[in-house]
Amino acid sequence: MYNVKSKVATEFIDDGEILESLEYAKQNKNNKKLINEILEKAKEFKGLSHREAAVLLECELDEENEKIYKLAKEIKQKFYGNRIVMFAPLYLSNYCVNGCTYCPYHHKNKHITRKKLTQEEIEREVIALQDLGHKRLALEAGEDPVNNPLEYVLESIKTIYSIKHKNGAIRRVNVNIAATTVENYRKLKEAEIGTYILFQETYHKKTYEELHPTGPKHDYAYHTEAMDRAMEGGIDDVGLGVLYGLNMYRYDFVGLLMHAEHLEAAMGVGPHTISVPRIRPADDINPDEFTNAISDEIFAKIVAVLRITVPYTGLIVSTRESQKTREKVLELGVSQISGGSSTSVGGYAEKEKEEENSAQFDVSDTRTLDEIVNWLLEKGHIPSFCTACYREGRTGDRFMQLVKSGQIANCCQPNALMTLKEYLEDYASEDTKKKGEEVIKNEIPNIPNEKVKKIVIENLENLNEGKRDFRF
Ligand code: SF4
Ligand code: SF4
Repeated sequence: MYNVKSKVATEFIDDGEILESLEYAKQNKNNKKLINEILEKAKEFKGLSHREAAVLLECELDEENEKIYKLAKEIKQKFYGNRIVMFAPLYLSNYCVNGCTYCPYHHKNKHITRKKLTQEEIEREVIALQDLGHKRLALEAGEDPVNNPLEYVLESIKTIYSIKHKNGAIRRVNVNIAATTVENYRKLKEAEIGTYILFQETYHKKTYEELHPTGPKHDYAYHTEAMDRAMEGGIDDVGLGVLYGLNMYRYDFVGLLMHAEHLEAAMGVGPHTISVPRIRPADDINPDEFTNAISDEIFAKIVAVLRITVPYTGLIVSTRESQKTREKVLELGVSQISGGSSTSVGGYAEKEKEEENSAQFDVSDTRTLDEIVNWLLEKGHIPSFCTACYREGRTGDRFMQLVKSGQIANCCQPNALMTLKEYLEDYASEDTKKKGEEVIKNEIPNIPNEKVKKIVIENLENLNEGKRDFRF
Protein backbone atom coordinates (compact mmCIF):
# COMPACT_ATOMS: atom_id res chain seq x y z
CA MET A 1 0.00 0.00 0.00
CA TYR A 2 1.42 3.39 -1.01
CA ASN A 3 2.50 5.52 1.92
CA VAL A 4 4.79 8.44 1.23
CA LYS A 5 5.85 8.71 4.88
CA SER A 6 6.48 5.01 5.45
CA LYS A 7 10.06 3.92 6.15
CA VAL A 8 9.53 0.72 4.19
CA ALA A 9 10.95 0.82 0.65
CA THR A 10 8.09 -1.03 -1.04
CA GLU A 11 5.57 1.32 0.61
CA PHE A 12 7.09 4.67 -0.34
CA ILE A 13 8.10 3.23 -3.74
CA ASP A 14 4.85 1.35 -4.20
CA ASP A 15 4.75 -0.62 -7.46
CA GLY A 16 0.96 -0.22 -7.74
CA GLU A 17 1.17 3.56 -7.40
CA ILE A 18 3.85 3.74 -10.10
CA LEU A 19 1.83 1.58 -12.49
CA GLU A 20 -1.33 3.59 -11.86
CA SER A 21 0.55 6.84 -12.42
CA LEU A 22 1.91 5.51 -15.71
CA GLU A 23 -1.57 4.44 -16.79
CA TYR A 24 -2.95 7.86 -15.82
CA ALA A 25 -0.20 9.52 -17.88
CA LYS A 26 -0.91 7.28 -20.86
CA GLN A 27 -4.64 8.07 -20.73
CA ASN A 28 -3.93 11.79 -20.54
CA LYS A 29 -0.97 12.21 -22.86
CA ASN A 30 -3.08 14.24 -25.31
CA ASN A 31 -5.33 15.85 -22.75
CA LYS A 32 -4.60 19.45 -23.63
CA LYS A 33 -6.72 20.91 -20.84
CA LEU A 34 -5.08 18.84 -18.11
CA ILE A 35 -1.58 19.43 -19.46
CA ASN A 36 -2.14 23.18 -19.48
CA GLU A 37 -3.52 23.07 -15.94
CA ILE A 38 -0.41 21.24 -14.80
CA LEU A 39 1.75 23.81 -16.55
CA GLU A 40 -0.16 26.64 -14.86
CA LYS A 41 0.48 24.99 -11.49
CA ALA A 42 4.17 24.59 -12.37
CA LYS A 43 4.40 28.33 -13.03
CA GLU A 44 3.93 28.89 -9.30
CA PHE A 45 7.44 27.36 -8.95
CA LYS A 46 6.35 25.05 -6.16
CA GLY A 47 6.90 21.84 -8.07
CA LEU A 48 4.59 19.07 -9.22
CA SER A 49 3.55 15.62 -8.06
CA HIS A 50 5.00 12.47 -9.62
CA ARG A 51 1.68 11.86 -11.37
CA GLU A 52 1.57 15.32 -12.91
CA ALA A 53 5.20 14.98 -13.97
CA ALA A 54 4.41 11.63 -15.61
CA VAL A 55 1.70 13.30 -17.71
CA LEU A 56 4.14 15.98 -18.91
CA LEU A 57 6.73 13.35 -19.76
CA GLU A 58 4.18 11.46 -21.85
CA CYS A 59 2.73 14.52 -23.57
CA GLU A 60 2.82 14.20 -27.35
CA LEU A 61 1.40 17.60 -28.27
CA ASP A 62 4.00 19.77 -30.00
CA GLU A 63 2.67 23.07 -28.76
CA GLU A 64 2.48 21.86 -25.15
CA ASN A 65 5.92 20.30 -25.37
CA GLU A 66 7.28 23.66 -26.47
CA LYS A 67 5.66 25.18 -23.38
CA ILE A 68 7.34 22.54 -21.19
CA TYR A 69 10.76 23.41 -22.60
CA LYS A 70 10.11 27.13 -22.29
CA LEU A 71 9.04 26.82 -18.66
CA ALA A 72 12.05 24.61 -17.83
CA LYS A 73 14.34 27.31 -19.21
CA GLU A 74 12.52 29.99 -17.21
CA ILE A 75 12.80 28.02 -13.98
CA LYS A 76 16.46 27.35 -14.64
CA GLN A 77 17.04 31.08 -15.04
CA LYS A 78 14.95 32.07 -12.03
CA PHE A 79 16.55 29.71 -9.52
CA TYR A 80 20.01 29.09 -10.91
CA GLY A 81 20.74 31.96 -13.30
CA ASN A 82 23.60 31.40 -15.72
CA ARG A 83 25.97 29.71 -13.31
CA ILE A 84 27.06 26.13 -13.81
CA VAL A 85 28.90 24.52 -10.91
CA MET A 86 31.92 22.41 -11.85
CA PHE A 87 33.14 19.21 -10.20
CA ALA A 88 35.27 16.15 -10.91
CA PRO A 89 34.94 12.52 -9.84
CA LEU A 90 37.83 10.93 -7.96
CA TYR A 91 37.93 7.14 -8.08
CA LEU A 92 39.56 5.72 -4.96
CA SER A 93 39.18 2.01 -5.59
CA ASN A 94 37.50 -0.31 -8.04
CA TYR A 95 37.50 -3.36 -5.78
CA CYS A 96 33.90 -4.43 -5.43
CA VAL A 97 32.10 -7.45 -4.05
CA ASN A 98 28.85 -6.78 -5.90
CA GLY A 99 27.71 -8.40 -9.10
CA CYS A 100 26.02 -5.44 -10.88
CA THR A 101 25.57 -6.62 -14.44
CA TYR A 102 25.93 -3.13 -15.99
CA CYS A 103 29.19 -2.11 -14.26
CA PRO A 104 32.69 -3.32 -15.17
CA TYR A 105 33.71 -3.30 -11.50
CA HIS A 106 31.45 -6.28 -10.81
CA HIS A 107 33.47 -8.85 -8.90
CA LYS A 108 33.47 -11.53 -11.61
CA ASN A 109 35.13 -9.28 -14.17
CA LYS A 110 38.67 -10.62 -14.37
CA HIS A 111 39.98 -8.45 -17.19
CA ILE A 112 40.00 -5.04 -15.56
CA THR A 113 42.94 -3.87 -13.51
CA ARG A 114 41.94 -3.72 -9.83
CA LYS A 115 43.41 -0.73 -8.07
CA LYS A 116 43.10 1.02 -4.76
CA LEU A 117 44.85 4.32 -4.20
CA THR A 118 47.21 4.66 -1.25
CA GLN A 119 47.11 7.93 0.71
CA GLU A 120 50.26 9.04 -1.15
CA GLU A 121 48.59 8.30 -4.46
CA ILE A 122 45.50 10.21 -3.35
CA GLU A 123 47.73 13.14 -2.53
CA ARG A 124 49.16 13.05 -6.07
CA GLU A 125 45.69 12.81 -7.59
CA VAL A 126 44.43 15.72 -5.51
CA ILE A 127 47.39 17.88 -6.46
CA ALA A 128 46.74 17.07 -10.12
CA LEU A 129 43.06 17.96 -9.67
CA GLN A 130 43.93 21.18 -7.86
CA ASP A 131 46.32 22.07 -10.69
CA LEU A 132 43.42 21.76 -13.09
CA GLY A 133 41.45 24.20 -10.94
CA HIS A 134 38.95 21.89 -9.29
CA LYS A 135 37.56 22.74 -5.86
CA ARG A 136 34.75 20.20 -5.59
CA LEU A 137 35.09 16.43 -5.86
CA ALA A 138 32.77 13.46 -5.98
CA LEU A 139 34.49 10.52 -4.34
CA GLU A 140 33.78 7.12 -5.88
CA ALA A 141 34.61 3.67 -4.57
CA GLY A 142 33.28 0.15 -5.07
CA GLU A 143 31.82 -1.78 -2.14
CA ASP A 144 34.38 -4.00 -0.51
CA PRO A 145 34.55 -4.23 3.29
CA VAL A 146 38.05 -5.71 3.16
CA ASN A 147 39.72 -3.50 0.55
CA ASN A 148 37.68 -0.31 0.95
CA PRO A 149 36.28 -0.28 4.51
CA LEU A 150 34.71 2.93 5.74
CA GLU A 151 37.89 3.76 7.68
CA TYR A 152 39.74 3.88 4.35
CA VAL A 153 37.16 6.29 2.90
CA LEU A 154 37.31 8.48 6.03
CA GLU A 155 41.10 8.58 5.97
CA SER A 156 41.01 9.47 2.27
CA ILE A 157 38.60 12.37 2.91
CA LYS A 158 40.93 13.67 5.61
CA THR A 159 43.88 13.46 3.23
CA ILE A 160 41.97 15.26 0.48
CA TYR A 161 40.93 18.17 2.71
CA SER A 162 44.44 18.50 4.13
CA ILE A 163 46.27 19.10 0.85
CA LYS A 164 47.09 22.69 0.05
CA HIS A 165 49.17 23.00 -3.08
CA LYS A 166 49.99 26.47 -4.46
CA ASN A 167 46.61 28.28 -4.35
CA GLY A 168 44.71 25.02 -4.69
CA ALA A 169 42.30 23.46 -2.25
CA ILE A 170 39.50 20.94 -2.40
CA ARG A 171 36.73 22.65 -0.49
CA ARG A 172 33.90 20.19 -0.83
CA VAL A 173 34.03 16.40 -1.02
CA ASN A 174 30.82 14.71 -2.05
CA VAL A 175 30.76 10.99 -1.51
CA ASN A 176 29.30 8.23 -3.66
CA ILE A 177 29.74 4.95 -1.80
CA ALA A 178 27.55 1.94 -1.14
CA ALA A 179 24.54 1.98 1.15
CA THR A 180 25.67 1.68 4.76
CA THR A 181 24.55 1.97 8.39
CA VAL A 182 23.33 5.03 10.31
CA GLU A 183 26.48 4.86 12.38
CA ASN A 184 28.69 4.97 9.29
CA TYR A 185 26.70 7.84 7.84
CA ARG A 186 27.28 9.69 11.10
CA LYS A 187 31.01 9.17 10.64
CA LEU A 188 30.83 10.50 7.09
CA LYS A 189 29.00 13.56 8.38
CA GLU A 190 31.71 14.08 11.00
CA ALA A 191 34.30 13.86 8.20
CA GLU A 192 32.53 16.92 6.72
CA ILE A 193 31.33 15.49 3.49
CA GLY A 194 29.15 17.62 1.25
CA THR A 195 26.44 15.57 -0.42
CA TYR A 196 26.01 11.84 0.00
CA ILE A 197 25.17 10.43 -3.43
CA LEU A 198 23.70 7.02 -4.07
CA PHE A 199 22.08 6.03 -7.32
CA GLN A 200 19.12 3.74 -7.12
CA GLU A 201 19.91 2.41 -10.63
CA THR A 202 16.29 1.22 -10.97
CA TYR A 203 13.26 1.41 -8.71
CA HIS A 204 11.69 -1.69 -10.26
CA LYS A 205 12.27 -4.29 -7.55
CA LYS A 206 12.36 -7.42 -9.69
CA THR A 207 14.63 -5.85 -12.29
CA TYR A 208 16.78 -4.43 -9.50
CA GLU A 209 17.27 -7.89 -8.05
CA GLU A 210 18.14 -9.35 -11.45
CA LEU A 211 20.65 -6.59 -12.17
CA HIS A 212 22.26 -7.14 -8.76
CA PRO A 213 22.34 -10.92 -8.53
CA THR A 214 25.04 -11.14 -5.85
CA GLY A 215 26.57 -9.10 -3.06
CA PRO A 216 25.05 -6.80 -0.43
CA LYS A 217 23.63 -4.52 -3.11
CA HIS A 218 21.18 -7.30 -4.00
CA ASP A 219 19.05 -6.19 -1.04
CA TYR A 220 16.53 -3.78 -2.61
CA ALA A 221 15.10 -2.56 0.69
CA TYR A 222 18.51 -1.86 2.27
CA HIS A 223 19.58 0.10 -0.80
CA THR A 224 16.32 2.01 -1.28
CA GLU A 225 16.09 2.98 2.40
CA ALA A 226 19.72 4.18 2.50
CA MET A 227 18.88 7.88 2.18
CA ASP A 228 16.60 7.70 5.23
CA ARG A 229 19.49 6.20 7.19
CA ALA A 230 21.89 8.82 5.82
CA MET A 231 19.56 11.57 7.01
CA GLU A 232 19.13 9.87 10.36
CA GLY A 233 22.93 9.90 10.60
CA GLY A 234 22.87 13.69 10.17
CA ILE A 235 23.63 14.00 6.46
CA ASP A 236 21.04 16.41 5.20
CA ASP A 237 22.20 16.85 1.62
CA VAL A 238 21.60 13.70 -0.38
CA GLY A 239 21.78 13.06 -4.12
CA LEU A 240 19.49 10.70 -6.01
CA GLY A 241 19.71 9.22 -9.49
CA VAL A 242 18.69 6.33 -11.68
CA LEU A 243 20.80 4.82 -14.42
CA TYR A 244 18.73 5.38 -17.53
CA GLY A 245 18.87 2.41 -19.81
CA LEU A 246 18.38 -0.28 -17.17
CA ASN A 247 14.63 -0.48 -16.98
CA MET A 248 11.61 1.30 -18.37
CA TYR A 249 12.60 4.92 -18.11
CA ARG A 250 9.03 5.97 -17.33
CA TYR A 251 8.87 3.63 -14.35
CA ASP A 252 12.19 4.89 -13.00
CA PHE A 253 11.28 8.50 -13.60
CA VAL A 254 8.14 8.15 -11.47
CA GLY A 255 9.97 6.07 -8.84
CA LEU A 256 12.67 8.73 -8.54
CA LEU A 257 10.11 11.47 -7.97
CA MET A 258 8.30 9.34 -5.39
CA HIS A 259 11.61 8.90 -3.61
CA ALA A 260 12.09 12.68 -3.60
CA GLU A 261 8.55 13.17 -2.25
CA HIS A 262 9.20 10.55 0.41
CA LEU A 263 12.36 12.29 1.68
CA GLU A 264 10.55 15.59 1.92
CA ALA A 265 7.52 14.04 3.67
CA ALA A 266 9.34 11.67 6.01
CA MET A 267 12.63 13.44 6.65
CA GLY A 268 11.66 17.08 6.08
CA VAL A 269 14.09 17.76 3.20
CA GLY A 270 13.97 16.70 -0.42
CA PRO A 271 17.06 15.63 -2.35
CA HIS A 272 19.82 18.21 -2.77
CA THR A 273 20.66 16.93 -6.23
CA ILE A 274 19.42 14.53 -8.87
CA SER A 275 21.85 13.03 -11.39
CA VAL A 276 20.75 11.82 -14.79
CA PRO A 277 23.29 9.22 -15.92
CA ARG A 278 22.68 7.10 -19.02
CA ILE A 279 24.38 3.78 -19.48
CA ARG A 280 27.71 3.95 -21.35
CA PRO A 281 29.99 1.38 -22.98
CA ALA A 282 32.64 -0.06 -20.66
CA ASP A 283 34.79 -3.15 -20.32
CA ASP A 284 32.61 -6.26 -20.24
CA ILE A 285 29.48 -4.13 -20.71
CA ASN A 286 27.62 -3.68 -23.95
CA PRO A 287 24.97 -0.96 -23.70
CA ASP A 288 23.07 -2.62 -26.59
CA GLU A 289 22.24 -5.42 -24.17
CA PHE A 290 20.23 -2.92 -22.19
CA THR A 291 17.36 -2.45 -24.56
CA ASN A 292 15.70 0.27 -22.53
CA ALA A 293 18.35 2.85 -23.44
CA ILE A 294 16.78 6.22 -24.06
CA SER A 295 17.17 8.57 -27.03
CA ASP A 296 18.70 12.06 -26.81
CA GLU A 297 15.25 13.50 -27.30
CA ILE A 298 13.72 11.65 -24.36
CA PHE A 299 16.79 12.44 -22.28
CA ALA A 300 16.24 16.16 -22.87
CA LYS A 301 12.56 15.81 -22.02
CA ILE A 302 13.42 14.06 -18.75
CA VAL A 303 15.73 16.92 -17.78
CA ALA A 304 13.11 19.55 -18.68
CA VAL A 305 10.31 17.84 -16.74
CA LEU A 306 12.58 17.27 -13.73
CA ARG A 307 13.47 20.97 -13.75
CA ILE A 308 9.79 21.87 -13.61
CA THR A 309 8.87 19.19 -11.06
CA VAL A 310 11.64 19.75 -8.51
CA PRO A 311 12.73 23.35 -9.07
CA TYR A 312 14.79 23.38 -5.85
CA THR A 313 16.93 20.38 -6.63
CA GLY A 314 20.24 20.73 -8.47
CA LEU A 315 20.51 18.62 -11.62
CA ILE A 316 23.81 16.97 -12.48
CA VAL A 317 25.08 15.68 -15.79
CA SER A 318 28.46 14.00 -16.16
CA THR A 319 30.98 13.46 -18.93
CA ARG A 320 29.04 10.33 -19.84
CA GLU A 321 27.17 12.72 -22.11
CA SER A 322 28.59 14.27 -25.27
CA GLN A 323 29.26 17.97 -25.72
CA LYS A 324 26.16 18.25 -27.92
CA THR A 325 23.82 16.64 -25.39
CA ARG A 326 25.31 18.60 -22.52
CA GLU A 327 24.81 21.83 -24.43
CA LYS A 328 21.13 21.08 -24.85
CA VAL A 329 20.40 20.01 -21.28
CA LEU A 330 22.36 22.88 -19.73
CA GLU A 331 19.78 25.39 -20.85
CA LEU A 332 16.91 23.09 -19.87
CA GLY A 333 17.85 22.86 -16.25
CA VAL A 334 21.19 21.22 -15.47
CA SER A 335 23.05 23.19 -12.81
CA GLN A 336 26.18 21.09 -12.21
CA ILE A 337 28.54 19.31 -14.60
CA SER A 338 31.79 17.44 -14.32
CA GLY A 339 34.71 18.40 -16.48
CA GLY A 340 38.14 17.08 -17.41
CA SER A 341 37.11 13.85 -15.72
CA SER A 342 38.99 10.61 -15.38
CA THR A 343 36.86 7.58 -14.61
CA SER A 344 39.92 5.42 -13.85
CA VAL A 345 41.45 4.78 -10.47
CA GLY A 346 44.44 7.13 -10.43
CA GLY A 347 43.86 8.72 -13.83
CA TYR A 348 44.67 12.36 -13.01
CA ALA A 349 48.28 12.34 -11.87
CA GLU A 350 49.27 9.88 -14.57
CA LYS A 351 47.39 8.54 -17.56
CA GLU A 352 46.73 4.80 -17.40
CA LYS A 353 49.17 2.55 -19.22
CA GLU A 354 47.80 0.91 -22.33
CA GLU A 355 47.69 -2.54 -20.77
CA GLU A 356 45.77 -1.23 -17.76
CA ASN A 357 42.05 -0.68 -17.65
CA SER A 358 40.47 0.47 -14.42
CA ALA A 359 37.80 2.80 -15.81
CA GLN A 360 34.14 2.53 -14.80
CA PHE A 361 32.80 3.79 -18.11
CA ASP A 362 33.96 5.47 -21.31
CA VAL A 363 33.91 9.24 -21.09
CA SER A 364 32.02 10.85 -23.94
CA ASP A 365 33.02 14.45 -23.33
CA THR A 366 36.80 14.17 -23.25
CA ARG A 367 37.65 17.87 -23.27
CA THR A 368 39.96 19.36 -20.67
CA LEU A 369 38.52 21.46 -17.85
CA ASP A 370 39.91 24.61 -19.48
CA GLU A 371 38.24 23.71 -22.78
CA ILE A 372 34.94 23.16 -20.99
CA VAL A 373 35.20 26.43 -19.04
CA ASN A 374 36.02 28.21 -22.30
CA TRP A 375 33.04 26.63 -24.04
CA LEU A 376 30.66 27.46 -21.17
CA LEU A 377 31.77 31.09 -21.29
CA GLU A 378 31.22 31.19 -25.03
CA LYS A 379 27.71 29.82 -24.58
CA GLY A 380 26.80 32.51 -22.07
CA HIS A 381 27.09 30.43 -18.88
CA ILE A 382 29.17 31.33 -15.84
CA PRO A 383 31.36 28.38 -14.82
CA SER A 384 31.38 28.38 -11.03
CA PHE A 385 33.76 26.75 -8.58
CA CYS A 386 31.60 27.73 -5.64
CA THR A 387 31.45 25.52 -2.55
CA ALA A 388 30.07 28.17 -0.21
CA CYS A 389 26.80 26.75 1.08
CA TYR A 390 28.01 23.77 2.97
CA ARG A 391 30.98 25.73 4.34
CA GLU A 392 28.58 28.39 5.59
CA GLY A 393 26.28 25.79 7.14
CA ARG A 394 23.62 26.29 4.50
CA THR A 395 22.56 22.66 4.19
CA GLY A 396 19.36 20.64 4.45
CA ASP A 397 16.19 22.61 5.16
CA ARG A 398 18.14 25.84 5.76
CA PHE A 399 19.41 25.57 2.22
CA MET A 400 15.99 24.64 0.85
CA GLN A 401 14.35 27.67 2.48
CA LEU A 402 16.87 29.95 0.81
CA VAL A 403 16.29 28.30 -2.57
CA LYS A 404 12.51 28.33 -2.22
CA SER A 405 12.49 32.03 -1.38
CA GLY A 406 14.79 32.73 -4.33
CA GLN A 407 17.35 34.28 -1.95
CA ILE A 408 20.06 31.83 -2.87
CA ALA A 409 20.51 33.67 -6.17
CA ASN A 410 22.03 36.51 -4.10
CA CYS A 411 24.84 34.10 -3.20
CA CYS A 412 25.20 31.94 -6.31
CA GLN A 413 25.88 34.61 -8.89
CA PRO A 414 28.42 36.64 -6.87
CA ASN A 415 30.12 33.44 -5.72
CA ALA A 416 30.27 32.22 -9.31
CA LEU A 417 31.98 35.44 -10.38
CA MET A 418 34.52 35.37 -7.55
CA THR A 419 35.40 31.69 -7.94
CA LEU A 420 35.58 32.03 -11.71
CA LYS A 421 38.01 34.91 -11.22
CA GLU A 422 40.09 32.69 -8.95
CA TYR A 423 40.14 30.02 -11.65
CA LEU A 424 41.12 32.56 -14.32
CA GLU A 425 43.99 33.89 -12.22
CA ASP A 426 45.42 30.52 -11.29
CA TYR A 427 44.64 27.98 -13.99
CA ALA A 428 43.08 29.34 -17.19
CA SER A 429 44.65 29.55 -20.63
CA GLU A 430 45.07 33.04 -22.13
CA ASP A 431 41.98 32.74 -24.28
CA THR A 432 39.78 31.46 -21.44
CA LYS A 433 41.07 34.23 -19.21
CA LYS A 434 40.16 36.86 -21.76
CA LYS A 435 36.65 35.50 -22.21
CA GLY A 436 36.17 35.05 -18.48
CA GLU A 437 37.24 38.60 -17.62
CA GLU A 438 34.78 39.88 -20.19
CA VAL A 439 31.93 37.81 -18.71
CA ILE A 440 32.75 39.00 -15.18
CA LYS A 441 32.80 42.62 -16.33
CA ASN A 442 29.41 42.22 -18.04
CA GLU A 443 27.85 40.36 -15.11
CA ILE A 444 28.77 42.76 -12.31
CA PRO A 445 26.01 45.27 -13.20
CA ASN A 446 23.50 42.40 -12.96
CA ILE A 447 24.12 41.95 -9.22
CA PRO A 448 20.88 43.40 -7.87
CA ASN A 449 21.99 44.18 -4.31
CA GLU A 450 24.23 47.29 -4.21
CA LYS A 451 26.00 46.24 -1.02
CA VAL A 452 26.80 42.81 -2.44
CA LYS A 453 27.96 44.40 -5.70
CA LYS A 454 30.38 46.65 -3.81
CA ILE A 455 31.84 43.69 -1.89
CA VAL A 456 32.23 41.67 -5.09
CA ILE A 457 34.10 44.52 -6.78
CA GLU A 458 36.40 44.81 -3.76
CA ASN A 459 36.98 41.06 -3.65
CA LEU A 460 37.76 40.89 -7.36
CA GLU A 461 40.46 43.49 -6.68
CA ASN A 462 41.72 41.39 -3.76
CA LEU A 463 41.84 38.34 -6.04
CA ASN A 464 43.93 40.36 -8.50
CA GLU A 465 46.35 41.00 -5.68
CA GLY A 466 46.72 37.33 -4.86
CA LYS A 467 44.19 36.87 -2.06
CA ARG A 468 41.88 33.85 -2.37
CA ASP A 469 38.71 32.14 -1.17
CA PHE A 470 36.00 34.78 -0.90
CA ARG A 471 32.39 33.77 -0.52
CA PHE A 472 28.92 34.80 0.52
FE1 SF4 B 1 30.35 -2.19 -7.52
FE2 SF4 B 1 29.00 0.10 -7.76
FE3 SF4 B 1 29.96 -1.11 -9.92
FE4 SF4 B 1 27.96 -2.20 -8.61
S1 SF4 B 1 27.89 -0.21 -9.68
S2 SF4 B 1 29.79 -3.27 -9.37
S3 SF4 B 1 28.42 -1.63 -6.52
S4 SF4 B 1 31.16 -0.23 -8.26
FE1 SF4 C 1 25.84 26.13 -4.82
FE2 SF4 C 1 25.44 27.54 -2.61
FE3 SF4 C 1 27.44 28.18 -4.21
FE4 SF4 C 1 24.93 28.66 -4.95
S1 SF4 C 1 26.03 29.63 -3.26
S2 SF4 C 1 26.54 27.74 -6.22
S3 SF4 C 1 23.89 26.90 -4.08
S4 SF4 C 1 27.25 26.26 -3.08
